[in-house]
Amino acid sequence: MVDLVKIRKKAKKNAAAGEQDKSVIPSGSEGPGREGGAQDEVTDPVNGSAHPPRSLAPAPASRGFVLNDRWQARRVILATGGRSVPKTGSDGSGFVLARALGHSVTEVFPALVPLVVESGHWITSLSGTSVEAELSVKSATGRVLQRERGSMLFTHFGLSGPVVLDVSRHWIAAQRAAAAAASGPPTLHANLLPGETFESLEAELLASSSVAGALRRRLPDRLVTTLLVESGALTGQTPASAPVSRLTKEARRAVIRNVVDLPLPAIRDRGFDYAEVTAGGVPLSEVDLRTMASRACPGLYLCGEILDVDGKIGGYNFQWAWASGRLAGEGAALKGEG
Ligand SMILES: Cc1cc2nc3c(=O)[nH]c(=O)nc-3n(C[C@H](O)[C@H](O)[C@H](O)COP(=O)(O)OP(=O)(O)OC[C@H]3O[C@@H](n4cnc5c(N)ncnc54)[C@H](O)[C@@H]3O)c2cc1C
Repeated sequence: MVDLVKIRKKAKKNAAAGEQDKSVIPSGSEGPGREGGAQDEVTDPVNGSAHPPRSLAPAPASRGFVLNDRWQARRVILATGGRSVPKTGSDGSGFVLARALGHSVTEVFPALVPLVVESGHWITSLSGTSVEAELSVKSATGRVLQRERGSMLFTHFGLSGPVVLDVSRHWIAAQRAAAAAASGPPTLHANLLPGETFESLEAELLASSSVAGALRRRLPDRLVTTLLVESGALTGQTPASAPVSRLTKEARRAVIRNVVDLPLPAIRDRGFDYAEVTAGGVPLSEVDLRTMASRACPGLYLCGEILDVDGKIGGYNFQWAWASGRLAGEGAALKGEG
């Protein structure tokens, strides 16, 4: 993932230093795809492209491009987005074009995407309930890898809402990293009363007349009842209104753990069909961030989600697409003729 703040800093640094990234193919040299163009590869790249086959090839013996064997262009801006919600047209075919023109593409995966739990899990019975929560992605050893706070929505398939979307890319990235390292998978946990700790909530509950009553003042009724049942605190002998003293210490502690550190048993994400953003793409090191000009293919410019940038909920992805699009447009239009 590329942090948007870091991008701005890097762009500034590059502009100040006027430097080139030595790790990429220098602008002007022949990149891997320069000779063949992309024609053969842009046919149904990902489960049925939304687009008819497109070709974008450097024109032979010239410095321009030929598009679809038909149009000539001296400069081309690749603004084809990522793979999110392919029915909108952003089906990943741009990555094929970028590769064929000499760029690399990092592994792409869904970001800002809802998460799915086992069918029939109690989480799905709370569909429609939302709660302010702090979500943590933890490594197999318990180290917190990422923490996000915001609104969480229980749904018929699992979990959604801004905080789930925000944390999803970190959970998915951690899963991929763990699989690559053959280590234990990461876990996802929710604090349903952000700011509370096990100790502070236990003190509050011990000072209350009933556990359910105390929790219902701060959490939705349905959620409290379900948590009490799932924690083993609510049985035929122990009704929800039972005083704190009627709960065993073990049951009380199980309830508290499930409120401040509830394991969220996500089994997978909902995939590109439901992801708002695509993580991964063409590395930023392969473009000049002042103009968005390709360092691999002279005359080519890239902007937006085709690049390895993804941001949180809050308009950052639009902002990136618009800002980099403007730079690319200016870069392509203002570049001297010849
Ligand atoms: C449901 C949803 C909700 C979102 N909500 C937000 C939000 O609230 N805030 C936010 O910041 N971001 C949001 N995003 C993300 C944001 O829309 C994208 O990050 C942004 O639109 C990317 O802009 P882009 O121009 O790079 O690509 P896109 O907007 O994806 O546009 C790419 C265009 O290229 C076309 N194209 C692709 N391949 C080819 C090809 N081979 N030939 C010809 N044309 C092609 C596509 O049809 C499409 O028109 C949302 C995304 C989705 C899917």
